[in-house]
Amino acid sequence: SNMKPESITECLDRVLSLAESDALYRGHTIIFEDTKEALYIFIDRDKIVQVLLNLIQNAFEAMKHPGDVHVRIKQENELAIIEIEDSGEGMSESEMEQIFNPFYTTKENGTGLGLSICQKIAVDHGGSLEVKSAIGLGSIFSFKLPTVEV
Ligand code: ADP
Ligand code: MG
Repeated sequence: SNMKPESITECLDRVLSLAESDALYRGHTIIFEDTKEALYIFIDRDKIVQVLLNLIQNAFEAMKHPGDVHVRIKQENELAIIEIEDSGEGMSESEMEQIFNPFYTTKENGTGLGLSICQKIAVDHGGSLEVKSAIGLGSIFSFKLPTVEV
């Protein structure tokens, strides 16, 4: 397997460089808030990059006008938390109950698979994927994974 202790900051540097041209094209700005101390998670790096790109892509698509996406790394006890916050259209409670179901999409050309895959990757690594949202204000996705000592 490709599981290794990976620095979250290094993973995010990779994600941000991959997302940059799309951000530029759409007129969105990604604001990255790093942690003071490096945090490590035990994961296949390609998988976490895939999850974070999916969440950033959704954030971009939720904002009909150029806006900011905040990407933050936080630590809570033994968990690393990567938050992706957009100022897009937001979701109702009933929508939030369905978004992790495979094939649930509100997009004309959506597959509805992104979030179900992201959640599976989180759970497979002993973590979780949670959402908070408000209609008209935006959404915050919190991707939580256990940290490892290096
Ligand atoms: P897709 O992007 O192909 O529709 P996803 O599984 O990534 O599939 O997302 C499922 C649905 O969840 C989206 O169609 C959208 O309705 C909702 N959603 C996901 N992310 C956001 C977000 N940041 N803001 C608002 N709605 C979102
Ligand atoms: Mg998606």
